[in-house]
Amino acid sequence: WQPQEPSERSAVVDLSAVWHNVVRLTQLARGRKLIAVVKADAYGHGAPEVARTALAAGAHMLGTAHVSEAVALRDAGITAPVIAWLHTMSTDFDEALYRDVRLGVSGWEFDAVLQAARRTGTTAVVHLKLDSGLGRNGATPEQWPELVARAARAQQEGLLTVEGVFTHLAVADDPGRPETQEQLDALNEAVRTARGAGLAPSLVHAANTPGLLSAEQLADPDSMLRDAVRVGLGLYGLSPFEDRTPQDFGLIPAMTLRARVANVKAVPRDSGVSYGLSYRTARDTHLALIPLGYADGVPRVATGAPVRIGGRVYPVVGRIAMDQCVVDLALGRTVTPEGVPAGQPVLDEAVDPLVHVGDEAVLFGAGDHPSVTEWADAAGTINYEVVTRISPRVPREYT
Ligand code: PLP
Repeated sequence: WQPQEPSERSAVVDLSAVWHNVVRLTQLARGRKLIAVVKADAYGHGAPEVARTALAAGAHMLGTAHVSEAVALRDAGITAPVIAWLHTMSTDFDEALYRDVRLGVSGWEFDAVLQAARRTGTTAVVHLKLDSGLGRNGATPEQWPELVARAARAQQEGLLTVEGVFTHLAVADDPGRPETQEQLDALNEAVRTARGAGLAPSLVHAANTPGLLSAEQLADPDSMLRDAVRVGLGLYGLSPFEDRTPQDFGLIPAMTLRARVANVKAVPRDSGVSYGLSYRTARDTHLALIPLGYADGVPRVATGAPVRIGGRVYPVVGRIAMDQCVVDLALGRTVTPEGVPAGQPVLDEAVDPLVHVGDEAVLFGAGDHPSVTEWADAAGTINYEVVTRISPRVPREYT
């Protein structure tokens, strides 16, 4: 046995956290089926690894935006049901059908899927998508009766099977808003129409992570949970709500973005830091260099975001550069057991730093580490974007 040399920079993905989150989300969904959304390389976490873990933990199906993402899962040897729902004129529907990829359909692609079924001699398994108010793809309630009539005819001809009916919510992250119930009512009506046309979809689904996590606040949670929930963010242990943490829902963040401190050096008071010299040190201090920058997907505008090194949290100072960012050791604050910075900066450290080259610096992670949401807030964006944009230059490590 050789001790493993810890890598200099990585996004560590805790697959046992993904496992835990799948089990927890299934519980919250009252045992409904779980469609694990692993598009965009599983929100930056690594699609094949997350997909295998989610399936082993009980997920029923995988979901991607593009057919090419679903085919990549097949290439990785994953044979479980997978659905892709966002198509363009160059989407290869023949390949989708050969590779047993289910398709979300609602508009122009309906004919393209039928043609592919004829060409390949297969039966397409489709989920009809209703646009109940988001304004993206999906048939509008006005277009819906014609879509289901055409689907019923094609099903009789053996060209497709309508396995599911679904819609996507617009404001589920804001549970007070009435539009969510209106969207769910529209879905209800659409399912009735589909059944009236002779279709028998076995999987009706609407809830994304915020929908699932706020279902209990609806008068009728079942109208949200239906037959399956289609969740992404929650798998990765993140909360879609501004005012609720993952822990509030029993979820565990799966990704830790970390690197080893690449340099520590003493600088005098009034030293400028990074491009534009927008930050100047307030006193004689030490600066520590973290080898992660915007080419790694760290948001360039996230100056001030927290970095945990040892038992302290330091804000990023000055501009974040392509490959690196800087923390001022004069600004370190100790953290409570919950990871909350407490007290005043420990100024002694400016003179006699506790941080050394090679120390572990964590930008975000689980437990008492800074959170993805703190980085998202510093960057003026959402946690979805922060993890999804961690670039391929950062090696993924799995624990
Ligand atoms: N369903 C569809 C159609 C989506 O586009 C997405 C992601 O944006 C999801 C479900 C998963 O959403 P969330 O990550 O909020 O669970």
